[in-house]
Amino acid sequence: MDILLMGPPGAGKGTQGALLAEALGLPKFATGDLLRDAVKRGTPVGLKAKAAMEAGHLVSDDIIMGVIRDELGKPEAAHGVIFDGVVRTIPQAEGMERLLAERNRAMDHVLFFEVTDEEILGRLVKRLAIEKRADDDPAAVAVRLKAYRDQTAPVLAYYEAKGLVRRVPAVGAIDAIASRVRAAVGR
Ligand code: AMP
Repeated sequence: MDILLMGPPGAGKGTQGALLAEALGLPKFATGDLLRDAVKRGTPVGLKAKAAMEAGHLVSDDIIMGVIRDELGKPEAAHGVIFDGVVRTIPQAEGMERLLAERNRAMDHVLFFEVTDEEILGRLVKRLAIEKRADDDPAAVAVRLKAYRDQTAPVLAYYEAKGLVRRVPAVGAIDAIASRVRAAVGR
């Protein structure tokens, strides 16, 4: 089963994705985590992605498609993946569709984590204090929210037209949200 998690920064995709991956016995992969790791290690991908990431802009579709292709090629991805924030532009959605089709697969579910802007800003301020991610500072957060609205929100419409989207109210206790997430994928 292939499941895409969507939602603005700070919506809880990472936390809930890890719980869902464990519940379903599937690997989870997040382009954000892979890119942060590449930046830390100074790989060619990391060197290309660094400036855009730190400013809160999206990384180019070419780089992202390379990362997705590599991950989908891994043996552990053979039976499905929880994709955490992996598709953020229409070209990425189209590329993902092609890569899955090459493996006789298609996205099964798209979960949209619904959170108010007020809640997001509060969560990112807390995360900045804990994780010290440069792109959680208020200026970069504003850029990320704009990127989300301009480039990623249309992706939701793309999947809605295919009837794949389930909306999950993502405020409240982690356990309660996790049950909603499992229910949304029929588990
Ligand atoms: P995240 O950890 O999901 O908030 O991602 C951190 C940053 O990584 C984003 O602000 C983007 O710069 C970059 N990023 C992660 N995933 C993508 C993607 N699918 N497309 C473009 N940029 C991405």
